[in-house]
Amino acid sequence: MDSGMISKIEKAKRYSEEPDRVSFERFAVQFRGTHESHQVTYDRGAWSCTCEFFGQRGVCSHTMAMERLLDPMLTIQMGSPSDPVSEEEVAR
Ligand SMILES: [Zn+2]
Repeated sequence: MDSGMISKIEKAKRYSEEPDRVSFERFAVQFRGTHESHQVTYDRGAWSCTCEFFGQRGVCSHTMAMERLLDPMLTIQMGSPSDPVSEEEVAR
């Protein structure tokens, strides 16, 4: 293996220990629950799940479990980047 590739692999190992470098924008997963599977999606801070409980409450065990799993990579997204108030504050 060439030295260029070896240095990239070493860098990848360091990166993989720093999940806060990554912030998810959107994804979809199949979540295998106790009784059936559900599709959980995430789009710029907004969760969605196909289960009945999420439909009633807007949050469910599946989305909360995903938040826990991916926590360091999701926290950066919590403040809405498209919020016009915060953009105004940045411009000042
Ligand atoms: Zn759910």
